Amino acid sequence: MRYISTRGLAAPRDFEGVLLAGLAEDGGLFMPESWPSFSATEWRAMRGLPYHELAARLLTPFVGTCLTPAELGGMTQAAYASFGHPAVAPLVQIAPRTFSLELFHGPTLAFKDMAMQLLGRLFDHVLKKRGERITIVGATSGDTGSAAIEACRDREAISIVILHPHNRTSAVQRRQMTTVLSGNVANLAVEGDFDNCQDLVKAMFNDAPFRSEMQLAAVNSINWARVAAQIPYYAYAALALGAPDRPVAFSVPTGNFGNVLAAWAARQMGLPVERLIVGANRNDILARWVTANDMTARPVEPSLSPSMDIQVSSNFERLLFELLGRDGTATRTTMERFRAEGRMPVPDAAWREATKLFHGFTLDDAGTLAEINRLWTTTGYLADPHTAVGTAAARAHMPADPAVPVVVAATAHPAKFPDAVEQATGQRPPLPARMADLYEREERYTVLKPDLGEIEGFVRAHARRNG
Ligand SMILES: *Cc1c(COP(=O)(O)O)cnc(C)c1O
Repeated sequence: MRYISTRGLAAPRDFEGVLLAGLAEDGGLFMPESWPSFSATEWRAMRGLPYHELAARLLTPFVGTCLTPAELGGMTQAAYASFGHPAVAPLVQIAPRTFSLELFHGPTLAFKDMAMQLLGRLFDHVLKKRGERITIVGATSGDTGSAAIEACRDREAISIVILHPHNRTSAVQRRQMTTVLSGNVANLAVEGDFDNCQDLVKAMFNDAPFRSEMQLAAVNSINWARVAAQIPYYAYAALALGAPDRPVAFSVPTGNFGNVLAAWAARQMGLPVERLIVGANRNDILARWVTANDMTARPVEPSLSPSMDIQVSSNFERLLFELLGRDGTATRTTMERFRAEGRMPVPDAAWREATKLFHGFTLDDAGTLAEINRLWTTTGYLADPHTAVGTAAARAHMPADPAVPVVVAATAHPAKFPDAVEQATGQRPPLPARMADLYEREERYTVLKPDLGEIEGFVRAHARRNG
């Protein structure tokens, strides 16, 4: 399998090249040159497979010859062995035709673990094979940093440094990062806000000598491998509900568009997906695009579902590329105009075509609390604020055909956002037993001023210690 850039200028690469590169040299995102597809008979034969086996089966065509089947199978098995539920991504019924697909049973209680647990292993394997090492640096206000740390801890070829704003993350989120005491993990509490952290990370990447000396790398959501690793759970849910002989719909609380793009990819691979419902909080650039072909960037406003507080959804470029008939030049000019003008000019015909599949839905904080409360009082199910956006979106856009069930991507465990859940229900969701001692565990982090020189010095010393 080869991968091409959405902007048409970068040379094609294999899976290994795409994994290590992240972004293409022309600023585009990598996409498979063609979509692998399975027949109905092949899909049927995958019913009932354990999650890790299904994942290996579906990822095989994307990985190509970069990994042997035994290597890939070993990695998916190890990646999902740490999950706190034997089904890995269990389906829970919450209404007659609606199911919650719980993607939060990984080590940091949010869906990013589903991809990151595999990504850390893929990176480590490829780097060792090449005799290389990397240093991952990232800034986080919460979810992504902890998922990256859990994915990279104890991996021999990787050092990781995550910057978070000192005293400005929730206790659960900070402790999920700072209680990982592995030697290759370092947490930096920066005396500043999240924007300071992000600027420092950007400055490190822009410091070319430092970047190459440290072999800096990022694990952001534009990496194709992350999207690919999110495809299997959509197939897992659909097969459990009767696919390929019964179509299903998916409702996905959305930020960077990576998760819903994986559902779209599953459909490309032959899974019968009746519709994709894009749920947004008040930062609803995507929902506005779906409902009115209006993709205008606005300032980000904080909400109860912070992992969806995003104004530019980077993975949307992949869908755009497909909507424009895989025309790299058209995609490039559209993205450049979006960057320059703050509004994306998607041709009406392409948008109209997309609306046959996509439905958009926006929910504000009051609506989110009401939805958490409604679910709790009617079913006894505790949903986190992100998931609640998805369940409300599902109710608003139920397929007309009563035979089509809707699967909501439940992206975070309620205990990850206990304040909102308690405000809505009066219930404070407890942490799962396997991490009930999170508040007693030893923490380790270094507090530093937002000074590039000092922070680079820290990163260098940390990488040396591990190298
Ligand atoms: C990252 C995240 C999302 C958004 O996912 P995208 O792939 O960026 O659309 C939704 N919910 C939670 C809990 C997340 O951590």
